[in-house]
Amino acid sequence: MNIYTKDSMIGVNNDWSLYDFYKLAVHGFPLNGIGSIDVTYRCNLNCKHCYYKKQNYHDELSLEEWGKKFEALKKEGFPFLICGWLGGEPLLRPELIELGKRYFKSNVIFTNGTIELPSWNDCTFSVSIHGTEPYYREITGAPKGTYERIKEQAQRRDIHMVISFCVTKVNFECIPDMLAEWSKTNAQKIVFEFYTPFKGGNNWLWLDWDERDRVLDLIKKLKKEYGDFIGLSYREIELMYSNKARQITSNCPFKEIGFTFDAKGNEKKPCAMGNFADCDRCGCILPFYSYVLTHRKVLWPEFMGGAYKRLKVLLRGFIENHKGNEVPSKGEIESSHFDNLSKLLDKSVDRLKMTTAILTENLKLKKLDKMVKQVGSRLHKK
Ligand code: SF4
Ligand code: SF4
Repeated sequence: MNIYTKDSMIGVNNDWSLYDFYKLAVHGFPLNGIGSIDVTYRCNLNCKHCYYKKQNYHDELSLEEWGKKFEALKKEGFPFLICGWLGGEPLLRPELIELGKRYFKSNVIFTNGTIELPSWNDCTFSVSIHGTEPYYREITGAPKGTYERIKEQAQRRDIHMVISFCVTKVNFECIPDMLAEWSKTNAQKIVFEFYTPFKGGNNWLWLDWDERDRVLDLIKKLKKEYGDFIGLSYREIELMYSNKARQITSNCPFKEIGFTFDAKGNEKKPCAMGNFADCDRCGCILPFYSYVLTHRKVLWPEFMGGAYKRLKVLLRGFIENHKGNEVPSKGEIESSHFDNLSKLLDKSVDRLKMTTAILTENLKLKKLDKMVKQVGSRLHKK
């Protein structure tokens, strides 16, 4: 399932079980199931499109106070599913993320990438790179050499990194070059969002609706070439067109299901952008993503995709077991194990279909959970 920055919030590097996917599909997405925490108000860059610095925060909870807050939320039954760790620059306070990410099933760290990314492989780093080097430098004001250093991080294999690209009037023309350049790195994908203007601001960065639709046409076209490296599904791209987007953002589903805490641990409304954001022209992926989460018809295919990925992880574990301690590379699986893998996948999809059929006959979830676990352990034992 793609969440937040796609294939990141609920990707393969998290604690989601098949049972969790079933619960989502059956009960819908829970209140406060997705949201964000502002780790710090501080940041070492000064981007042209920054919404955070406009909010004028100057204080933070201590680590101990956050610890107490998480425990209190736990007692209240807070779902602790998906959390985006925001700033400012969140990696200025890695100790808070280390503490907090243990509570959530999926974690995404939204960072500017200027600080070396910690070797955390249980979360996703969404690194803001809003254009090829000249555009990047113009937008962020970052000193020379920063862009190259971020690129070195994108070659690492010990972390999961996606790129976040905020499309503005300044940078939209470099999208094809950006894809060509960064698709050669180990970054998993680029997620395109659009700049969200502020109420009452001059908002010269905002692409008007026509321009935005043309950019979406371009992204759709490029997706044929780059596939999943563009971290928006066709479904999400369609929702972002002007004829649909306004209906969604003016009634943003995130307001209903999401949580946002500022750096002082206070609830922030309506979302991380605070009350200056112009919802009618919001370009953030979050409302579209929340729309998917709150509409079962759209959620179901996403759910199937997530469950399928989880099965693939189980199967990869199975293949690893069969090869002793040797871990096959992706290339090896595709060549020498491909036949074997596809047979196993077929079997697993059959099992998934079977459990889905049972689900539709309204069997109790607990029974289903037991079955899912049995299927999982059978796969492991084989
Ligand atoms: S990195 Fe993020 S928080 Fe820092 S200035 Fe840029 S947009 Fe603002
Ligand atoms: S539409 Fe939703 S995500 Fe966008 S600014 Fe408004 S509340 Fe925030």
